[in-house]
Amino acid sequence: MLMAIRLRGMDPDETLTLTREMALSGRVLEWPDSWQRLLVDKHSTGGVGDKVSLPLAPALAACGCKVPMISGRGLGHTGGTLDKLESVPGFNVSQSPKQMRSILEQVGCCIVGQSEDLVPADKVLYGLRDVTATIDSLPLITASILSKKAAEKVSALVLDVKFGSAALYTSLDSARTLAQSLVSVGNRLGICTVAMLSRMDGPLGQRIGHSLEVLEALQCLEGRGPADLHHLVTTLGGSVLWQCGEAGSVGQGAARIAATLADGSALGKFQAMLQAQGVEADVAQALCTGTEEQRYQVLGRARAQEELPTAQDGTVQRVEALPIAQVLHELGAGRTQKGQPINHHVGAELLVMVGQRVAKGSPWIRIHYDTPELSNDQRRTLQGALVLAGSEPFTPSCKVAEIILPQGSRSLEELTGE
Ligand code: URA
Repeated sequence: MLMAIRLRGMDPDETLTLTREMALSGRVLEWPDSWQRLLVDKHSTGGVGDKVSLPLAPALAACGCKVPMISGRGLGHTGGTLDKLESVPGFNVSQSPKQMRSILEQVGCCIVGQSEDLVPADKVLYGLRDVTATIDSLPLITASILSKKAAEKVSALVLDVKFGSAALYTSLDSARTLAQSLVSVGNRLGICTVAMLSRMDGPLGQRIGHSLEVLEALQCLEGRGPADLHHLVTTLGGSVLWQCGEAGSVGQGAARIAATLADGSALGKFQAMLQAQGVEADVAQALCTGTEEQRYQVLGRARAQEELPTAQDGTVQRVEALPIAQVLHELGAGRTQKGQPINHHVGAELLVMVGQRVAKGSPWIRIHYDTPELSNDQRRTLQGALVLAGSEPFTPSCKVAEIILPQGSRSLEELTGE
């Protein structure tokens, strides 16, 4: 069936019907009437280094929203939010609707997986798509994402639709078509849905791999860390606050999200969410308030780290995410069979930034691996990911290229005044 849908496609009505039926394959969550406008969520089509949900869900909760996020595992070369959170000892992604209600009452956000109760059809199809080469089907992506959001019964939703060499849809045009399908089906389901088209040629942030991304998400929750991650978190969150009427514009909403990252309130919500989802109080505290070294002690670390040197002098034009993700997948960070265990410690740290000048011989990437070991072929593939040129240093462009509203496309400048 997956292959038939992948090859023949579906029209908008069929896609809507598939989405509804998948949502109704389990329970549809119920919430107090007083929460209705505040029930919100964010979802991404998947990328490399995309840890946005980890800081964004608690930041929205710190703004008074209720975020019952049903998330996914890694698909193909892209990483999954659930897998990242499971690198925290004790974190339990299986929460019943009753437990979710209690976490939302106490904390304001939770991040859970599909289950026998919640969108079981997506749980089955999601795992099978990864091993049947049907990941990139537009109706299957639309139904997979929106069935989860329909089951959550949220009022507002922002979607991060990636495009570029490491996205499910590489061209801006094809990603725009996917975004339009998502926005149209989402709004027909009664969810105020907006999509942002964001670049996914290079990794988001400087760290890739499950536990390394948790570390970087913690930096973002402290108002630090890479600028591209901070900007995407605040922009997506700003849109959600605008959509649900908690902010007068995307720009005002973004400023509120940034304030929760700067003042520690989002980090406090993250710590409370970890505890509510099974992490021991002292572990959650060490992770959220400790030094980087204490955080490594909680999360663990791969047996070996190796830095690769820059082959020549130059300015970093691009760091290609796809070859890095493929090597990390081979080193154990991803699955080739449904349900296969993954190694949470495998990952990469980028030691250079796009636009920066680098000198021949200086290290540009640090790979964390256990078994299997990094091979010479993999070293060669990784070296091909660093693209240098003789140009002057420059500031990289913002990740968000376009915003898709039910009434058409807008630029970020039009919505934020940036
Ligand atoms: N995220 C999902 O939940 N489903 C997809 O198909 C892609 C990203």
